[in-house]
Amino acid sequence: MSRPIQVMKFGGTSVGDATRIRSAAAIAAETSKERAVVMVVSAMSGVTNTLIAAATKAGAGDESAAETLARSLQEKHHEAIGKLISDIEKRRELLSEIDTLIERAANYCRGCAMLGELSPRALDAIAGTGERLTARMAAAVLREMGHHGVAFDASELIVTDEVHGGARPLAGPTRTKTLAALSPVLQDGGIPVVTGYVAATAKGIPTTLGRGGSDYSATILGAALDASEVVIWTDVNGVLTADPRMVSEAATLDEVSYIEAGELAFFGAKVLHPMTLRPVVERAIPVWIRNSFEPRLAGTKITHTVQPTPQGVKAVTATRDVAMIAIAGPGIIGVPDIAARIFSATASAHANIVMISQSSSQDSICFVVQAADAVRTEQALRNALYEDVHQHDLEHIKVNRDVAIVAVVGENMVGTPGIAGRVFSTLGKESINIIAIAQGSSEYNISFLVESSGMEKAVKALHQAFGLGKREKSDGTRTVAQVTT
Ligand code: ASP
Ligand code: MG
Repeated sequence: MSRPIQVMKFGGTSVGDATRIRSAAAIAAETSKERAVVMVVSAMSGVTNTLIAAATKAGAGDESAAETLARSLQEKHHEAIGKLISDIEKRRELLSEIDTLIERAANYCRGCAMLGELSPRALDAIAGTGERLTARMAAAVLREMGHHGVAFDASELIVTDEVHGGARPLAGPTRTKTLAALSPVLQDGGIPVVTGYVAATAKGIPTTLGRGGSDYSATILGAALDASEVVIWTDVNGVLTADPRMVSEAATLDEVSYIEAGELAFFGAKVLHPMTLRPVVERAIPVWIRNSFEPRLAGTKITHTVQPTPQGVKAVTATRDVAMIAIAGPGIIGVPDIAARIFSATASAHANIVMISQSSSQDSICFVVQAADAVRTEQALRNALYEDVHQHDLEHIKVNRDVAIVAVVGENMVGTPGIAGRVFSTLGKESINIIAIAQGSSEYNISFLVESSGMEKAVKALHQAFGLGKREKSDGTRTVAQVTT
């Protein structure tokens, strides 16, 4: 019988320099003693940003962008390769592969500069270069360690739709291609090293899965290969009870459910690309979040199971990356199609609505969008409601960017009474004003809007009120605190 497969993904900081690439390869090599391993790698940290910046400059007609890009990529990657590959012949081979890829990206930039245009398709072709470089480097390092490392470009494995900059995978063709390409290597005891982030359409045109998309690549491949688990190696210890930059007592959670992890990803815990869990939920493939800088720590396991928590709340999360839009005026009262008109305008602006609330007096509708969508959304609303504003049926359309969403999350909150009460009394004690509230009928989170300046205080107070912090046991090991009421 063939060995169970583990897909392991290394993020940008986990392959950020020669030492990190070597540690990543060592983790893969060690794991491969027990199971079949597929490595998925991000670009070295900062590289995707450099590529996108160069492409953008080129698109604006800057002819020097291509040269500057090529030089900076060469410097960074040549330096790492010099430290990683000792055999002169093998090093030369790898350097020439790397230079070819860099030259191709530079050529695309030259083309954009000549046209004075950067199409989403061209941007995808350029942006995925960093992953193509690290995959080849990591595979070469594995070979240097005596393993059969084979680099794969995911544009030959993952088939997507044609939405550049955020393509979605087509499961059927992806499975067929992935199995055909990777199975022989795995059966041979080899370690495929696959580029994260990138994919291609059925016609072979390069796409990307959106920023931070390497996590998603790992779970797409995990589902295609029926892997027994997916491990996301990153630079934090796992999923935490709060952002440690805000709450120093934040603790790593041993286990969270797919639903909880999804809620946390949505509300600003930037541990996972928001689509990451989609491919694995159906097949119940567990996903681990682990720290490649602290591989002795177990990290957080994401599965179907929900671990009991005394208060139902598992974590507090928050984001300032939102804007509130309020539409108010007598014109709203009893106009049956007003909500429909508002939300068809937001839909036409492709606004991502994070939260909605309407008071029962019906004279205002307020909703929250991601900050990046605010200007577009406001414009669309002004166009759609022009007549109403003009006739003073609507007093105003106001945008407030000075807000933050705070959410308490936990699957066990379902049916646990008193959580909302505790949230509000905690915030009341801290004199934090709540602007709007929403609880999904799923009860997996209660989210509310506060002034941006009160966000940190709210998170700290709630984290403490629900007893989520870590405590040192006398033997020095850490436990998540139990709440005593
Ligand atoms: N390199 C890509 C990015 O920076 C994908 C990833 O790291 O997941 O967005
Ligand atoms: Mg990332």
